[in-house]
Amino acid sequence: MNLVAIVGRPNVGKSTLFNRLIGQRQAIVSDVAGTTRDRQYGKAEWTGREFSVVDTGGWVVNSDDVFEEEIRKQVTLATEEADLVLFLVDVKTGITDLDQQVASILRRNSGKVMLCANKCDDNMSQYAAAEFYSLGLGDPYPISAATGSGTGDFLDEVLRRLGPDTKAGAEDDGIPRISIVGRPNAGKSSLVNAFIGEERNIVTDRAGTTRDSILTRYDKFGFDFYLVDTAGIRRKNKVKEDLEFYSVMRAIRAIENSDVCVLLIDATRGIEAQDLNIVNIIQRNNKSLVVAINKWDIADDKSPAAIQYFENTIRQRLAPFTDFPVIFVSAVTKQRIYRVMETAKNVYLNRKRRVTTSKLNAVMLPIIEATPPPSMKGKYIKIKYCSQIPNTQIPTFVFYANLPQYIREPYKRFIENQMREKWDFHGTPINIYFRQK
Ligand code: GDP
Ligand code: GDP
Repeated sequence: MNLVAIVGRPNVGKSTLFNRLIGQRQAIVSDVAGTTRDRQYGKAEWTGREFSVVDTGGWVVNSDDVFEEEIRKQVTLATEEADLVLFLVDVKTGITDLDQQVASILRRNSGKVMLCANKCDDNMSQYAAAEFYSLGLGDPYPISAATGSGTGDFLDEVLRRLGPDTKAGAEDDGIPRISIVGRPNAGKSSLVNAFIGEERNIVTDRAGTTRDSILTRYDKFGFDFYLVDTAGIRRKNKVKEDLEFYSVMRAIRAIENSDVCVLLIDATRGIEAQDLNIVNIIQRNNKSLVVAINKWDIADDKSPAAIQYFENTIRQRLAPFTDFPVIFVSAVTKQRIYRVMETAKNVYLNRKRRVTTSKLNAVMLPIIEATPPPSMKGKYIKIKYCSQIPNTQIPTFVFYANLPQYIREPYKRFIENQMREKWDFHGTPINIYFRQK
């Protein structure tokens, strides 16, 4: 299991710990994505194992009266949705009322909780940490998010508590796993219902028994696919849905378990920060993307100019990844909803696309010859050949060169754009590496 949530009252160091856990990685990833859209969700990696981290602090509405209630809701949700909850407390202030309240919620599900005494910057404060034992959540684990001392041991313990990495569908059976994600009220449940109705009998008995229950297999309209987390969409709880945090936790689970994510955007609201947060999760996880603009039936302006504007805006906001389909749909009138499925299936095929080495070289080498990488420090850079690496999550290509370290980002982007022109990778990220030969 893979989802870690950091909880605790304000100022205990949640965001500091979050940054420490994902910091280095984030820097690498955002270099590619060119953004720093999101400070609440990230991927951490330790000894080769990757896991997701959510900082609940990022969602707290900062107004005094809703404050404690808000924290209480988030902590409750974190214990339901996360695999491991890091409960941060502050040794410099000791136990506060709010710590007590948070602890009382967490004690109901204490198996998932790791109590962390933060700000143990020196040995003395490690002794102070002992007082938190009285919260009834076991021995506090001393950490210092600020200095990072002891972080290795801490991460070992986090991995130990997470247990083995058992993501659903880790084994690939060639059937697309599709999730429908989006803000609350974007129309996710409506779309799912429009596709598959309320009938239960359409669920084939081939439904994967070895798989996590988050996947439900459907064989409908000529499409054989898994819908990810429909139960979660259907069994929704309006109170919870109001919380962005809840929808984000749900989205993380769904996205991590899918191949293709259909991002529903509400046409009447346009693109909002929350949509971009979800895109960010999709991109961090290297998932394929179909954007569906829903509620098109009630959009004010449906002129070609409006459609163009919508499309352009979305691509700009999601840049530099712009090669994905955008479909205008209505879950209510069912306009183009089958196109969504068909497109998701095609995007899945693009994700699985294999290009033979001979074809790849026949097409790419002349392009590279005509536009070689710019020479660096007077050195001539020669790309000799290329090939696709088999059995990767997304199409991954290696270009062998004499001086790969001198090939810069713009050239890499040029190669990627050329490949996207020659082969259909619509909706899917691809990896391109340059290696020594
Ligand atoms: P959050 O509100 O829980 O997200 O807390 P922050 O991460 O914003 O941290 C609150 C304050 O505590 C900031 O001034 C941090 O610099 C400080 N802080 C965080 N971790 C540590 C730590 O390990 N040691 C010390 N001394 N200060 C820390
Ligand atoms: P979810 O929270 O994303 O699952 O959204 P719901 O499916 O519950 O939809 C939220 C609201 O939007 C409901 O009142 C739906 O009837 C309405 N809705 C969803 N899709 C459409 C659509 O295509 N057109 C219109 N007019 N309303 C829609």
